[in-house]
Amino acid sequence: MSTVMPPAASARRELSAFNGWMVGPEDAGYGDARKVYNAMIDRRPALIARPASATAVGQIVRFARDHELPLAVRGGGHNGAGLGTVDDGVVIDLSLMRDVAVDPQARTVRVGGGCTWGQVDRATGEHGLATPSGIISTTGVGGLTLGGGLGHLTRKHGLAIDNLLAADVVLASGEQVRASADEHPDLFWAIRGGGGNFGVVTSFEFRLHEVGTVVAGPTLWAIEHSADVLRVYREFLPAAPRELNGFFAFLSVPPGPPFPEELHLRKVCGVVWCHVGGDEDAAARAMAPMLDALPEPLLHGPGPMPHADLQSAFDGVYPPGHQWYWRADFVNEIPDEAVAAHARFGAETPTWQSTMHLYPIDGAAHDVASSDTPWSYRDARWATVYAGVDPDPANVSAIRDWTVDYFEALHPYSAGGAYVNMMMDEGQERVRASYRDNYDRLARIKASCDPANLFRINQNIRPAA
Ligand SMILES: Cc1cc2nc3c(=O)[nH]c(=O)nc-3n(C[C@H](O)[C@H](O)[C@H](O)COP(=O)(O)OP(=O)(O)OC[C@H]3O[C@@H](n4cnc5c(N)ncnc54)[C@H](O)[C@@H]3O)c2cc1C
Repeated sequence: MSTVMPPAASARRELSAFNGWMVGPEDAGYGDARKVYNAMIDRRPALIARPASATAVGQIVRFARDHELPLAVRGGGHNGAGLGTVDDGVVIDLSLMRDVAVDPQARTVRVGGGCTWGQVDRATGEHGLATPSGIISTTGVGGLTLGGGLGHLTRKHGLAIDNLLAADVVLASGEQVRASADEHPDLFWAIRGGGGNFGVVTSFEFRLHEVGTVVAGPTLWAIEHSADVLRVYREFLPAAPRELNGFFAFLSVPPGPPFPEELHLRKVCGVVWCHVGGDEDAAARAMAPMLDALPEPLLHGPGPMPHADLQSAFDGVYPPGHQWYWRADFVNEIPDEAVAAHARFGAETPTWQSTMHLYPIDGAAHDVASSDTPWSYRDARWATVYAGVDPDPANVSAIRDWTVDYFEALHPYSAGGAYVNMMMDEGQERVRASYRDNYDRLARIKASCDPANLFRINQNIRPAA
């Protein structure tokens, strides 16, 4: 069927009983509705629909399919490559589907497909419970989970996908199914790392862990010490207890409280800690071997705080609407030549919000075999992310050049693929490299549940022939 009238008008006529909200380019509210987190992404969908139920999601999926319109699905809208929107197509924006239901006895939480992590962390935190997510509260549960989910709780409790118990999924046919270890197990395998390729997840169910107060915060060293800090960190962290997570970063000190004024905007390197358990002495003991091996830091900030506060600690530094350019890699080891290259690029961040993070992948994340989920780099030690960030569009070339140059200098020392959630649109070979031996199984599952590749605005897995 082809569309004669504009898609928004067709949708209103055909979907008169639609439970939700929709806009097209001519409607009030369209300008705000089309914005995503990364302001470098400037797409103009033909229809943005906010369904309020799984049935309404199915209606829009069928509408896009029947009218042969490109379809994007938006959870939190955070994706760097802008995969939550599409030019001239249909966007399913799940932001009306944000229910959170905690079951403290069963230690589970059910989360609407359009939730952000901040909503989930606040609700579970009231019971002293949490599930692994990322490091920023405004990130969507949907995209982060479907791509894997790396964050402060990774070493102790694994990736977000390692704690996913079940999901309700609307398939390309519009049919609603539940995926778990017992129901549609192939689909359940595929959505734990295979991204939004297999359907629209309208609800996630996660296992919860006892995580109330954590001991968290940064230790920052002068940038001149960065090679020493990174050399000590690469040996220290893999040997540290699982309770201690710490990601290495190059950053500039944010220009506001709680940071001392004399450090504002100073380029530094550091580790952002999260010790699970809330015992300050245990946290100090766990960090001591690293701190003792290095010069006096400029700032040592870890202290007890609710896990949900840690999760929102970066929100003020990274509000929506900045320009973002990303590159990423998995890393097994950090040889001295790589340390030297890091020290060079880390000292040359083009803007104060530009950063590089090394997220640990070990501890509980290593308890899962590479083929147990699509997330194949279980044997990697770190996920590196290079992110050029700035509010001013005039600085796009500067942030992009630094990111790409940094990535290209370090890529030869990488394990090959990258974490799909931290890639830009880098082409099919890069997606395949990121799934390694799991790619072919993903492509077969894709062929069985989305043979026409309706869900292709993502790090795309093409249906097997
Ligand atoms: C500031 C910032 C911090 C970040 N920190 C972390 C971090 O600590 N750890 C980490 O692992 N990642 C992190 N990320 C990366 C993040 O995981 C990805 O950007 C992810 O894609 C965001 O998910 P979203 O739902 O917000 O994105 P969206 O742009 O809404 O969607 C991204 C992709 O997921 C699909 N999708 C989203 N929701 C659904 C759903 N319910 N059903 C089906 N498909 C869906 C979309 O179709 C799209 O392909 C961060 C990103 C940013 C910008």
